[in-house]
Amino acid sequence: MDHHLFEQKTIHPSVSDSAPHRSLCTDCGVSRTSQPKRCASACQFIQPDYMGLEIQVHGRHRSPDKVDELHFGPFTHMYRASLKNPRPGAQWSGITTRIAEKLLENATVDAVLTMEADPIDKWRPVPVLITKSQDMQRARGMRMGYAPLLSLLEPARDLGYKKIAIIGIPCQIYALRALEKSLGFEDIFVIGTPCSDNTTTENFHQFLKLIDPNPSEITYLEFKANYHVELRFQSGGVKEIPFLQLPLSELPQDFFPLTCRTCVDYTNVLSDITIGYMGGEGEQWIITRNKKGEELLALLAEEIVLKKPGSAGNRHSAVIGFKKNVELAAGGLPLRKMPNWLRPIVSWLMPKVGPRGLEFARTRVEMKAIESILHLRRELPSRMKNMIPNHIWSLARAYDLEPKEGELMRSSGPLP
Ligand SMILES: Cc1cc2nc3c(=O)[nH]c(=O)nc-3n(C[C@H](O)[C@H](O)[C@H](O)COP(=O)(O)OP(=O)(O)OC[C@H]3O[C@@H](n4cnc5c(N)ncnc54)[C@H](O)[C@@H]3O)c2cc1C
Ligand code: SF4
Ligand code: SF4
Repeated sequence: MDHHLFEQKTIHPSVSDSAPHRSLCTDCGVSRTSQPKRCASACQFIQPDYMGLEIQVHGRHRSPDKVDELHFGPFTHMYRASLKNPRPGAQWSGITTRIAEKLLENATVDAVLTMEADPIDKWRPVPVLITKSQDMQRARGMRMGYAPLLSLLEPARDLGYKKIAIIGIPCQIYALRALEKSLGFEDIFVIGTPCSDNTTTENFHQFLKLIDPNPSEITYLEFKANYHVELRFQSGGVKEIPFLQLPLSELPQDFFPLTCRTCVDYTNVLSDITIGYMGGEGEQWIITRNKKGEELLALLAEEIVLKKPGSAGNRHSAVIGFKKNVELAAGGLPLRKMPNWLRPIVSWLMPKVGPRGLEFARTRVEMKAIESILHLRRELPSRMKNMIPNHIWSLARAYDLEPKEGELMRSSGPLP
């Protein structure tokens, strides 16, 4: 194989514009492969089989008897974590890209499939295959938007790569797992991040314009678990804006596409290891899901600080408030203009009393479950029986949301 042939290979936004049109699509890349019809079986928005894929990947479905599995999916361990030496440019401390660097350093994989920033627009994700560990730094950081990650699977295989690692968000990893057996790789390592409230890069630029007079100077943005948005600037400056003070009423009603409002896999349950921040109380949050995930984490043994995740507060009132607001918004009230998951925080939560650590992560997962049900019920009720797996109903039941006739998915496991 000739790695050099492909080192600079990227897919650029002009290609993105020509993606086949599909409703409920985040352009994960399958529709751009030689067999675009595989979307029918690979897409989490068409006919997902969460139970079947959890069993395929982890050897078992999430267990309602195991604490937190109903919320976060099958796992072996959870940690609060940071790299001892945080990497510049990383979204948090850089655990995600550091694991991939190690896989390349050890020659465990031939290439890493991930996103880097578009050379013209730093917020636009562009898929890339990286074969040298020192090039992983180009991938660090979060971009907002969709890009066809999986369209580089066939080129990777054609170049002779046998073992690959993939870093992706849940809708990309779902499709990858659905196709995995047919792809022809010897081994695939999946490093997932959670994902929520994504939108197009164009929409995101509108948001940046609203929150700062110099949006082009912003180099970093994160919604933190301390109820602030952190902004970093080219000058080196840092600003934290409390959620309460975000000027969000100006956002258009369709700011978040229906895909991301009805996406039921917040924690990337089909990855070998999930690396996020929601349960991390200011640090990162790691979920190892199987033996491979444990091995990936072990690569950083000397470089990482691992702690037991904390949990404090009570989510119930926050989630009830959220549900009320989503219901009101569905009636067309002005509330609809604020991102759904911020509303309960605005109306009820304050940083010092709200859910923290794992309780914060549970809060967000339950909010996403409720949001998925209510938005689909209002906008595409005929898809509910295909898109809402039974474990989502189990989470929603605590908030008086039960499946109506015709809404229940067949064969997605028992209602625990
Ligand atoms: C749109 C989006 C929403 C997210 N929402 C949440 C959330 O609600 N809660 C939470 O805990 N975590 C969320 N994350 C994950 C979080 O932002 C961090 O990526 C994660 O905590 C890992 O941090 P790190 O320092 O280890 O990552 P780094 O080492 O900096 O690596 C980040 C990796 O993410 C990849 N990436 C960046 N942007 C995209 C993109 N648009 N699509 C696909 N891959 C991308 C990069 O290529 C890189 O490989 C989200 C990520 C994205 C992309
Ligand atoms: S599988 Fe991917 S490309 Fe196909 S419809 Fe779903 S999100 Fe879009
Ligand atoms: S919120 Fe869900 S559907 Fe939207 S980009 Fe993230 S994983 Fe994909």
